[in-house]
Amino acid sequence: MLFFEQLSLWFNRSKRKTAQTQPIKIVRNPRSCRVNSKVAPATNVEAIDLNEIWQKLQQEFFPMHYALDQYQIVWSRRNNKRNLAVCDYRKKKVIVSPALNNIKFRQIVEPLVYHEMCHAVLGEPQRQNGRFVYHGKEFHSLEKRHSQTRSLNEWIKNGGWANAKRVYTRRMKKFKTA
Ligand SMILES: [Zn+2]
Repeated sequence: MLFFEQLSLWFNRSKRKTAQTQPIKIVRNPRSCRVNSKVAPATNVEAIDLNEIWQKLQQEFFPMHYALDQYQIVWSRRNNKRNLAVCDYRKKKVIVSPALNNIKFRQIVEPLVYHEMCHAVLGEPQRQNGRFVYHGKEFHSLEKRHSQTRSLNEWIKNGGWANAKRVYTRRMKKFKTA
């Protein structure tokens, strides 16, 4: 009898232990690695793992901000020529332009993902004179914590983004006609 009591005690304890030590759920988008007809496959290039970057940045900059675990980060299925990336804090989703899914942009994508992570952390932007201020003082001081933020902004200013879009659009045309 004692054996069974001990056994059930041990069982309950181990159950409690696993319940406590369960890792935080990370939502992954099954589509993020799927090649579909709208996105040109990353041919000849090693693709970038957005989830890996997101988790790395979260651990480094916002380890206690557990709400970030619920975010999905995916490559856009459309060739959006306006935005490098978008953060939808209501849907808890970050979408990155597929034009940047090339290992040569790895150094650019990281501060970019960090930029979107800052939006996710701050949530609803403040209003000033009836307009939303997305990149206010608070945002900039948070964004500055990443050492590559400046090089991302310089890359955009020097035409890096415009060029990446051009190359991707050309590749999309070839992909569609192939
Ligand atoms: Zn922004």
